[in-house]
This record gives sequence, C-alpha cells and structure tokens, in this order.
Amino acid sequence: MEWIVKGREPASVFRWFETISAIPRPSYKEEKIADFLVQFAKERNLWHYRDDRNNVLIKSPATKGLEHIPPVLFQGHTDMVCEKNAEIAHDFERDPLKLRVEGNFLRATGTTLGADDGIAVAIMLALLDGEIPEHPAYECLFTTAEEVGLDGAQSFDYGKINAGRMINLDSEELGVVTAGCAGGLRSDLTLEYKTEPFAGEALRLSVGGLMGGHSGENINSGRANANKLMGRMLAALAEKTDLRLISLSGGSKDNAIPRECEALLAVSDFEIADSCLSEIAAEIAAELSEADRGFTMKVEQVSACDEMLSGEDTRRAIALLTCAANGVFEMCKNVPGLVEFSRNLGVIRQDGGKLEFIFSSRSAREGQLDGSVRELNLLAAMTGCTAKHYARYPGWEYAKHSELCETYLEAYREVTGREATVNVIHAGLECGIIHAKVPEMDIISIGPTMYDIHSPAEALDLDSVEVFWKVLKKWIAGACREV
Ligand SMILES: [Zn+2]
Repeated sequence: MEWIVKGREPASVFRWFETISAIPRPSYKEEKIADFLVQFAKERNLWHYRDDRNNVLIKSPATKGLEHIPPVLFQGHTDMVCEKNAEIAHDFERDPLKLRVEGNFLRATGTTLGADDGIAVAIMLALLDGEIPEHPAYECLFTTAEEVGLDGAQSFDYGKINAGRMINLDSEELGVVTAGCAGGLRSDLTLEYKTEPFAGEALRLSVGGLMGGHSGENINSGRANANKLMGRMLAALAEKTDLRLISLSGGSKDNAIPRECEALLAVSDFEIADSCLSEIAAEIAAELSEADRGFTMKVEQVSACDEMLSGEDTRRAIALLTCAANGVFEMCKNVPGLVEFSRNLGVIRQDGGKLEFIFSSRSAREGQLDGSVRELNLLAAMTGCTAKHYARYPGWEYAKHSELCETYLEAYREVTGREATVNVIHAGLECGIIHAKVPEMDIISIGPTMYDIHSPAEALDLDSVEVFWKVLKKWIAGACREV
C-alpha cells in the first residue's frame, strides 16, 4: 500500500487511519469494520468480543511485570457521518475514502474524512498492536451508531469491562479535556387538527436567513429560533385580523436551531396582515444580535387553497408555538459560562392532518429533564395535543476530583509546557451513557484537533496528532509507575 501521510509521526497511527479509511462504516452499517477489528484481534491472539450491534471490545494484557497496574479502558466510535459534495460520486457503503494531505491537514476529497471518530480507532489499533512497549492492560471498546443517537454505547454489556478508568477519544481539540456533558431527550407534541373550507385571502409568510447552529453548543450564542419567531408573528397577527393556518413547517433537525420557518395563512384582510407583519419584523430585526443580521421576513399573496385549519385548531397551534419555552433555562452554578438546562423547538412538520412540534431538551441533571417532560405534558394537555418523549440519554456530571483528569493534565503540561483546559459541554457524548452504566468509572474525553467535522471540509490537524500521541505516551508511562 502506498501511504498518503509520509514522513510524519506517529507513523503507525496514520497507517491504521489510512487502512480503516478504506473500510466503509456509515452508522448502523458497521459490519465491515467490526469484521476487520475481530480479524485484527484474532491475528494477534487478543481477547475479543463482538455483540449483535457490532460493538467490539478487544483486550490486551499488561506488559510482563506490570500486571499489578489497574487496566485502562480506551473508547471511540467506528461509525462516521457520511456527507459529500453534490458533484462527487461516492458510495459510502462501498467506496474507500480518497485521502489527501494539504500542508498540515489530512482531508478526504469531496467527502467527510471520518476522523471523527476514525482517529480513535487508529489510536486504539496502534496501542493494541504494541506501539508503546511498556503499558498496563488495555481494554479497547469500539462502539457503533454514535452519530445517530449513541445507540451502540447504549446497548453494550459493560459487565465485560474490568477497568475503573476510561479515556474516550472523541474530542476534537488538543489541549481541551472534556470532563462532563449534558443528557437529553426528544419530545414530539402532536396536534391532530380539523379542516374547513378555505375562506379569505391566502398568504405565504416566510422567516429565514437566520444563523442556526447546534442546539446544545450554540443555544447560548444569542441565535434566534425561526419557529419561535413564527409563533410570535402569528400571535401578534391574530390580534389584528381573523386568521387561519393552512400549513406550517420549520427546521429540519431536532438538534439544530431552526434557520427557516414557513406558514401558509388565510386572513380576512391581506393589507392589514401585511402591514402588521412588517411592523413586527422590524421590531424583531432591531432585537436580534449581530449573528442574526441576515434575518428576513417575506409576505407574499398566493392563490386560494382548498381548505384550512379550523379556528379552534389554529388558536391551539399558535398557543403552543407561543407558549413553548425555548432556549437557555438555567446556567451551571459550578462552571462559569456553561449552560445547564435548555430546550430547542427544532422542527415543525405537517403530515396528514397532524402538526408535529419536535423539541430537544438538554441537561446534566435528570431532575431537570423530568421537569421538561412534565412541562411539555402540561403544555400538550392545555393545547389539546398528545406528547411523546423518547431517545433519552443521561448526562455526565462534572466530577471535581478525577485522578485520571489530573494525571492527564500533568502529562500534557510536561510534554507541551502549556496548560490544557478542562471543559464541560452542553451536548451528548457516549461518556454520559457509560457514566450512567458504570457510575464509579473515572472518565475523560480527549483527542487531537480536527475542523469542520460532519462536513466534506473535515480536516485532521497532523501536528496535533503527533503532540497528542506524545502526551498519551507520557500518560501511559506515568500509569506504569503507579503503586
Ligand atoms: Zn464523534
């Protein structure tokens, strides 16, 4: 094999990365990479276990004389987000990624690189392959379907693990140690509506041009939610003119702040509606932050439709949209600047006589998530909707004292001469699930630097891999001297 990354350390990690980049591994389709991992373990006579979700656990014994050192669990996910540029022909279920080096970066041509989290897989393979001669016992857990709801980690049998400390390799910034994360859940509120024959003048109201972003990481960035802005406009408009909804849709993912929302309306007087909406739009534009300077509101008169929602159901939908609390609810008392509890009304969609409102709630505290469920149940009851809650995953609460974190920070300091930052994030990680299943496990999440993950612009910082590997080596050497 002709290697793409040449003359760089750690050569073994880059070789393993290139090797697995030839193996397709979309979420829920991890059979091929699991086959590869099992084969790898067999060839080296390593203990291994594969479950029916294609999670794979491989264990490597300690170096002779270090059997008394407690084992270390390394963990990362094998699946990758499959995004490509429209003009590229690439079948993620068959084709190898086309890697290329550009200066200090490794990229894939036209597609995601899958360094999230292929770099973890490559690092674990290098470790298991004996790249660091002196080491405690390793347990390497390769999980699946992380990108689609942390599914693999959810279903793994943790009875197979002996280690009391875990290094998750799914962070994207060298110099940042993640030591806590939020949990969350999704909620669907569904309004079954009645229709009546259309009357009045029809108009299309579109809200757009907003910044959007991740519903956890960016919920505190002052970015407006298009669905909530739509609610505010409709509620104000309903005071000025008789109004019926014909259709309503906004956003595309529960975990993204919606950038666009569109409604078709029947109104008794188009002129009044138009001027009222312009007024509110100006009001909103003046309130928005710099980030949302691109905000647009468009009103167009359109031709009549066949039917519209009943007056009662229109009122219900507007009440729900207006009264659903959204955004940041609580900030963390221990970690400055960290959001503790938030909610995002990510999606509104219409489907055969139903309007669905899809929320994502996040908190590191189970009690707050329970509270979110109650609140949405009450809102649903008051607006004549049904509520369904699902995809709940636990948070990982920040532990003030973590030996693993402290020793890693020390190793980082010794290698780089700099301090790493300890971070807690308002988004879900597999660490949260593993923390809930094995509460006494000491956990950190680390990794080399990558940019623009989940997009074809994804890039792995090659220098950062070298530094990361040195720090990891230093930490492992330290672990070998434990008494
Ligand atoms: Zn990841």
